[in-house]
Amino acid sequence: MTNSRYRSQSFWLDTTPDRLEPRPALTCAAEVDVAIVGAGYTGLWTAYYLKEIEPSLRVAIVEAEIAGFGASGRNGGWCMGTLAGIGNLLESEPKGAIRLQRELFATVDEVGRVAEKEGIDCHWAKGGNIVVATSKTFREQLIEEQDYWRLLGVGEEEVRWMEPDECADLVRTSTNLGGLFLAPVAALHPARLVRGLAEAVERRGVAIYECSPAVELGRGSVVTPEGQLRANVVVRATEGYTCTIPGQERALSPVHSMMIVTEPLPESTWDEIGFTNRVTFGDPRRNVTYGQRTVDGRLAFGCRGSYFFGSKIHNRFSSEDPEFREVRKVLESFFPVLCDHAVTHQWGGALGIPRTWTPSVGMDREEGLGWAGGYVGEGVGPANLAGHTLAELILERDTQRTNLPLVGKPFPRWEPEPLRFLGYKAIEHFAGELDSANLRGRPTPRLRGAIYDHYVRK
Ligand SMILES: Cc1cc2nc3c(=O)[nH]c(=O)nc-3n(C[C@H](O)[C@H](O)[C@H](O)COP(=O)(O)OP(=O)(O)OC[C@H]3O[C@@H](n4cnc5c(N)ncnc54)[C@H](O)[C@@H]3O)c2cc1C
Repeated sequence: MTNSRYRSQSFWLDTTPDRLEPRPALTCAAEVDVAIVGAGYTGLWTAYYLKEIEPSLRVAIVEAEIAGFGASGRNGGWCMGTLAGIGNLLESEPKGAIRLQRELFATVDEVGRVAEKEGIDCHWAKGGNIVVATSKTFREQLIEEQDYWRLLGVGEEEVRWMEPDECADLVRTSTNLGGLFLAPVAALHPARLVRGLAEAVERRGVAIYECSPAVELGRGSVVTPEGQLRANVVVRATEGYTCTIPGQERALSPVHSMMIVTEPLPESTWDEIGFTNRVTFGDPRRNVTYGQRTVDGRLAFGCRGSYFFGSKIHNRFSSEDPEFREVRKVLESFFPVLCDHAVTHQWGGALGIPRTWTPSVGMDREEGLGWAGGYVGEGVGPANLAGHTLAELILERDTQRTNLPLVGKPFPRWEPEPLRFLGYKAIEHFAGELDSANLRGRPTPRLRGAIYDHYVRK
């Protein structure tokens, strides 16, 4: 792939200052201490902390395309301290859930700290996140959600309800019945972060081989088309792409999320829609919505997405793809003034969903295999915590992270096809139906809501 094709993968990759020229591929057999597969946030953060703890360690990364080609170069840039699965943990392991939540919030600042220290200009700005109630039902749900945060030990200074007037100081949607504000959330430029991290780990002596897909990954060895890494520990950091690795076809399901970005908007439009302090914005629908104001004055917005039969991954989408029209329709329903503004980029990307909808970090010493991921579309901040934890597990350090409930077992397998596909289509269908009932101010239909909640863990 040429660098212009990499650039066209997302607005973010298109606007990174570096040239996206692939680094040399692995063309020999090399011996290292730790071999990492995948140069997204997870692989790079793992490498970063391995070298921070043990600078003499020999670490190499193989990447199928270029660093940041995957979700890390395509996401919405919400760096947030939340993670799927904590809701379940609250019931089974409340103390662990509370500790995990504290670590997740701290991660948002840790990403900002390292970016500053390493000179990564990723536009990190901690303006918080506002989830706006766009219907009466959503208002009730969000007010109730505060109880969940309090059980997690999170106080008003971090998460609190805002009535419509206060909410409108931050963001001004066409319907505003108040909103839930989360302070520990930063907006950032995702591709600048991942590309900058790759340079930072290289400066610490990590070798990154690009255009080097792992075709075989096993005990002590990673094989690429032209080379091989022999290592004491192999790390799998391939998230949505994990299903393309032989033997891992059913570990994580790749679900796609779709994004668009507008042309730079005039100040008069920003006056109308808000986004004060680069606050990030969404509403509570199940077809997750997420928006941020970019540093160059555009609105980047995403929602929706699909699972394709047989876990097929799509890295490119036609500009005529009807999903983009839907994303735009949702955006304009929040901010009608945007009908008058052009969309300049649209793209999609694959995120990874585990069967349990709960992420996992782990190290199987017998197999010499480490892994981290399954963030269910919330990995920008959590991949930092996961990478840090994985580095400590590999180096057998005992820290406040290595016994978090995030540390767990390998992902249980998804159902074989066609069950997986049919299950997903049912989830997508239910999500649409439940959203449209809630958007009309109707309560969640009980049976469908229960079936949805059974499969999709919070
Ligand atoms: C459109 C979109 C919007 C999102 N928005 C947000 C958001 O706003 N906030 C948030 O928290 N999260 C968001 N996410 C999720 C977030 O981007 C991911 O959780 C995070 O980037 C995962 O990082 P990763 O390194 O684990 O995976 P990835 O970034 O996907 O990295 C995996 C890497 O592995 C490489 N690879 C794959 N197969 C092989 C192989 N065989 N050999 C070598 N390398 C291989 C890939 O090329 C890729 O570079 C979004 C995701 C998408 C797709």
